[in-house]
Amino acid sequence: PSVSLRERAWVEIDRGAIAHNVREIKRHLSQKCQLMAVVKADAYGHGAIAVAETALEAGASWLGVATIPEGIQLREAGIKAPILILGAVNTPEQIQAIAHWHLQPTLCSAKQALIVSETLNELQKTLTVHLKLDTGMSRLGIPWQEGAEFYQRVSHLPYLQIGSVYSHLATADSPDPQIMNQQHQRFEAAIAQIQAMGLPLPKLHLANSAATLCDRTCHYDLVRVGLATYGLYPAPHLQGIIHLKPVMQVRARITQIKTIPAGTGISYGYQYIAPGDMTIAVVGIGYADGVPRNLSNQLQVGIRGQRIPQVGAITMDQLMLDVSNIRDLQVGEVVTLLGQDGDHQFTADRWATILGTISWEILCSFKHRLPRVTR
Ligand code: PLP
Repeated sequence: PSVSLRERAWVEIDRGAIAHNVREIKRHLSQKCQLMAVVKADAYGHGAIAVAETALEAGASWLGVATIPEGIQLREAGIKAPILILGAVNTPEQIQAIAHWHLQPTLCSAKQALIVSETLNELQKTLTVHLKLDTGMSRLGIPWQEGAEFYQRVSHLPYLQIGSVYSHLATADSPDPQIMNQQHQRFEAAIAQIQAMGLPLPKLHLANSAATLCDRTCHYDLVRVGLATYGLYPAPHLQGIIHLKPVMQVRARITQIKTIPAGTGISYGYQYIAPGDMTIAVVGIGYADGVPRNLSNQLQVGIRGQRIPQVGAITMDQLMLDVSNIRDLQVGEVVTLLGQDGDHQFTADRWATILGTISWEILCSFKHRLPRVTR
């Protein structure tokens, strides 16, 4: 016999919130601009298949993944939408898999383009490819100054069709637009060169969530939106431009309740000593599930709509709460680590602030030991 998905600790995925966010993002785009839902890293920890299906139903028309297996997983689930592989692919084996599964690779060097063309020649198949320019992120992409020449070379290679030219922004979530504007200008300059060569203008895309929210001139033909699909804002100053709902909730159950006298140490290392007599609750979730140990003694959670402090070191599978202010609490009651509880919203942004990181990393950190419960 198996146990319920909600037996110990779990991640809830609200499909309605995904659909809402996709519709909100689409409302912010012009008619001709398409939406790519970025569902890499198992849809930022939300579960790629459920997110992809819901986002497509709600109006997204492209999917973005980082790796070939991520693309294959979506194809095996029966998803037919175009899938762009945002990460690098370099070997003939990778190209064969991409061609077989009707995925679309990113190209960023002439050598790579040749390998792709030769492999396709052997397969006698054509493939749509996307050219990535490095306009200032200093990550994947051909230097933007070489973009037009690269475009020209690839457009002459047999078996390749250029689906788009794109770039990625490094600082779109900053309140200071200077660097983003510089990247934008470089992208424009590369496009102008392509046009000046008399080549047909390809589909263009540049914006991630932040640029989608803050600068409509970055929208072009397609926007690649990850974080906002999951209902989070890339930065505080971008809140409220459109209305987003967090998609992920993380919940766990209380497994034991006990009273301890003043002066009792709690958890490994006795980082917390009870200042008075206390009631503590043990909860069945820990750092092996993705609750970072560095949140110890700073985490707050929800029980019955109340905000409750976590006390002592977070352990691998369990953590403790100070529940002295709740009456008649029972083993089995649900604790909200992320998500709504009563009037309180427990957010990945808050965790990220405490930990000195970004909400993207928090969302991606929940382990597969936590079942994803989709509703
Ligand atoms: N485009 C590319 C190339 C990316 O790597 C990512 C994710 O990092 C995105 C778009 C989506 O970014 P965001 O989650 O900020 O919307």
